[in-house]
Amino acid sequence: MSDSVPLRSLVRQKLVKTRIIATLGPASESIEMLRQLVIAGVDIFRLNFAHGSHAWMSELVHKIRQVSAELECPIGILGDLSGPKIRLGEITGGEVLCNEGAEFRFVRGMQSTSPTDLTCTYEPLIDDVKAGDRILLADGTVGMVVLEKDPGLEWVRCTVFQSGKIRSRQGVNLPGVALSTPSVTEKDRKDLEWALHNHLDFIGLSFVRQAEDIRSLHKLIASHHPKVTPLIVAKIEKTEAIDDLENILDATDAVMVARGDLGVEAEISRVPILQKRIIRRCNELRIPVITATQMLDSMQSNELPTRAEVTDVANAVLDGTDAVMLSGETAIGAHPTQCVRMMDRIASEAETLVEPANFKDLRDDETRRARPITEAVTRGTIAAAEYLQADLMVVATVTGRTALALSRMRSKVPILAFTDREEVARRMCLYWGVTPLVNRAVQQSADSLLQFVINWGQKNQLLKSGSKLIIVGHTNWLGETHDLMMVHVVP
Ligand code: PEP
Repeated sequence: MSDSVPLRSLVRQKLVKTRIIATLGPASESIEMLRQLVIAGVDIFRLNFAHGSHAWMSELVHKIRQVSAELECPIGILGDLSGPKIRLGEITGGEVLCNEGAEFRFVRGMQSTSPTDLTCTYEPLIDDVKAGDRILLADGTVGMVVLEKDPGLEWVRCTVFQSGKIRSRQGVNLPGVALSTPSVTEKDRKDLEWALHNHLDFIGLSFVRQAEDIRSLHKLIASHHPKVTPLIVAKIEKTEAIDDLENILDATDAVMVARGDLGVEAEISRVPILQKRIIRRCNELRIPVITATQMLDSMQSNELPTRAEVTDVANAVLDGTDAVMLSGETAIGAHPTQCVRMMDRIASEAETLVEPANFKDLRDDETRRARPITEAVTRGTIAAAEYLQADLMVVATVTGRTALALSRMRSKVPILAFTDREEVARRMCLYWGVTPLVNRAVQQSADSLLQFVINWGQKNQLLKSGSKLIIVGHTNWLGETHDLMMVHVVP
């Protein structure tokens, strides 16, 4: 094990509860960089299927698993399916300036011969839009409105209302336009097959429009009969998804507030309010939620973030996010490790202000994801931990559900979650305040778990003589399976 492991244990596991997700790219593909990023605080790596080949990603998965084994810490992997993301085709000359009032046409096919004739990867665009619809380009920096549609459906004529430059293959958004495309594209199906083959832990779905999109992804995953079923992360970035939020939350395992496209599809000024609303509802329903995009954007080139970025990360933590995500910052930026360290520092400062949830305020639907017994044990554990000012809550878990229920309570007391299943440990990398560990003896006896925890806690300077532990688990320690809670004082 490398010398830097205790550093991670001390700085990260003891203090910081917010999970960090880092998107991988050319700036972070080496094994040394992956190791540094984990030590700096990354819990989950994101592979974005919009960029990179399966061969490149296979190498990354291999390296991540190597780093995880070497540092003896579970690391989750999120595979992010592109969904029906629309991109511009090749522009004659590579780029074109769109001045306010200038006219362009979207034409069928992928080839155009004039810089004012644009093509895109979504063939039915011409069928789906109508006069008056907006077409936003290059992350919403350029806006056009449809003036006229060819009766023969070969082109639509548009005029620019928001000027700027567009380049080949940049994103196209059609806010409010009902797209006729399926939510899981042919490319997504191939990417999903690869992801399942490589046992990825989380599958993100971009441009979710309705709960049915999540249900079909669940069915598609099940049709592959995977040994381990990944958790689905619904990326909320379309106004249709906001309209169907309750049903989507009912169908999904986790959520991402994907602010990049959300800021294009919805009014950019609504992003903070939508972020707060989505996070609050996820918290109420105990659904892990990720806040993503441009969190430390200026650090792609600068060594320090802006005050506004620091405040944004802290506010996401205070809103109740489980995880914060880095995109270009770690994929193509100049300072990936500094970004993760910075995120870690901001999160740990913000966490000092996070208020523990109060059971009295829990709504009925908040508890519906836990079994009543898990609920009762969670309440007992939190009450005991807070009353005794415990040093550690230790949970022995088979599915991770008890750890999730404890995480939701946002207690100041750190949670150490043991499981004998590596895939469960990797899932728990998304749960706020939970440090997952794999221990094969966890189901054998309370004694062996206790001994392991005390050794681990002392090695990481979390426990000393007199420290109080609350141990909780759904275990067969007494011969049959029981839900147990024990209080232990380190001798
Ligand atoms: C986003 O739009 O905010 C997002 C996270 O998705 P992607 O990075 O795939 O565009």
